[in-house]
Amino acid sequence: MSRVILVSNRVLDLRKASQAGGVAVALADIVRTRPSLWFGWSGEIKPAEDCSTVSREGRIATVPLSLSEHDRYYLGYANSVLWPVFHGRLDIAHFEAGYFEQYLGVNRRLAALLQPMLKPDDIIWVHDYHLIPMAAELKKLGVTNRIGFYLHIPFPPWQMFSAIPEHEHLARCLADYDLVGLQTKADIANLIDYVLNGVFGNVTPQGRVRIFDRLLTVASFPIGIDVADFTKGGRETGLAQGRGASRIIGVDRLDYTKGLPQKFKAFGQFLEKFPQYRRQVVLTQIAPPTRSSVDAYTDIRQQLESLAGSINGQFGELDWVPIHYIHRSTARRRLAAIYRSSRIGMVTPLRDGMNLVAKEYIAAQDPEDPGVLVLSRFAGAAEELHSALIVNPYDIGATADVIRTALEMSLDERRERYAALIETIEKNDITAWCRSFLAALESLAERDKSPEEIALALEKLRGAGKPRAKARASNVAPGPKVESSPRIN
Ligand code: UDP
Repeated sequence: MSRVILVSNRVLDLRKASQAGGVAVALADIVRTRPSLWFGWSGEIKPAEDCSTVSREGRIATVPLSLSEHDRYYLGYANSVLWPVFHGRLDIAHFEAGYFEQYLGVNRRLAALLQPMLKPDDIIWVHDYHLIPMAAELKKLGVTNRIGFYLHIPFPPWQMFSAIPEHEHLARCLADYDLVGLQTKADIANLIDYVLNGVFGNVTPQGRVRIFDRLLTVASFPIGIDVADFTKGGRETGLAQGRGASRIIGVDRLDYTKGLPQKFKAFGQFLEKFPQYRRQVVLTQIAPPTRSSVDAYTDIRQQLESLAGSINGQFGELDWVPIHYIHRSTARRRLAAIYRSSRIGMVTPLRDGMNLVAKEYIAAQDPEDPGVLVLSRFAGAAEELHSALIVNPYDIGATADVIRTALEMSLDERRERYAALIETIEKNDITAWCRSFLAALESLAERDKSPEEIALALEKLRGAGKPRAKARASNVAPGPKVESSPRIN
């Protein structure tokens, strides 16, 4: 079995990984269970002269960033250019001089520190938007290993991507990977659109993408969760609903992509339109701070605080506060019980790569008396979770009506929807995600294998561990039909 080299912006302490998000748990699991090395930023910021040594502890290798790298690469290009544009917020992107050079510089520096640790038959799996140029930089150093890339956030519509001044450079960097994995079929459609219209590449009859004389495979691998973790955790003591009021739960990092103002407004309209529900329902929103030194994040915080204040002021009573807004993170181990004791899970981002909270909410439910998931059509999860109540978060009035529908849904319908949702979530869990990406990357070893053969290998692998899983031809590299297929998103 060849060694897997994981490269990601942040590398977590394996001892703490089980308390972190699902992706960290999945990567930590690879590190524990197979020959591997996990390489990336340690999370520390140090003077530039102290940044050139790799700290190695077993299978974990980390490096610090300098202050200028942190400002221009992490807060700058990654989180003030790529994050907003990939989430459709071109209006708040900061295309500042020097960001891109530093972004390339960090990728180059990390590649140079990683290269001496590589062995010839290692396979390399690079994660997320911070590290798009990693394969290109490794190749410049003579690395010939197979390299796969997984983008955890959405791929934007092609004109939006083309608005990034360095879009062509980024596309060349993507072309240096052997396999590019995205969350959804809609993301694949956007990438193919860009290839066809933005850089005049094409899709081969075998379903591979040809750009800049490179041939790469693109496929969707929708990320999943550790289902058992949330099924077990959900049985622990929940959170009292308080005077019999039903709880709507929201758990989102305080990010402008998460649609929090729209969610608060929809809840306010719900209370306005359906006064019989006042005192009967509360919205508990857990919204931990994130990237607070980027301006757009300060703005969203102020906006939310003012909205929560005005809705609570308008509708609240001495003994009932409609919105509980908690600007702190909640330990992951507590979330399952909170999800389970909430009548509605409200996941209404304006744009989201996948959204793991949607899956976690379902996994934590009591199958005999499950709650209802209200899910934005703009979350990647909506592509799989058809049995949720799907909403357009921009349509505040319709979302208010859907809250009522969810509260009034019969037990039979709730059970029926839950059964369909949990089946999908179990089938595409975090293990299936890891295995399928690695299997696809490994099967690319034989370059002349067709996408159909890769698809077959993938399905075999999925089927092996999961007798209930059905083949999902849609989850593999797009075949020749893609050339004429319309954009989904
Ligand atoms: N999470 C947590 N505590 C919190 C808020 C979120 O542990 O207070 C976890 C949550 O359980 C989920 C992850 O953080 O696993 C968020 O992932 P998601 O895909 O929903 O959104 P992202 O933050 O990656 O955009």
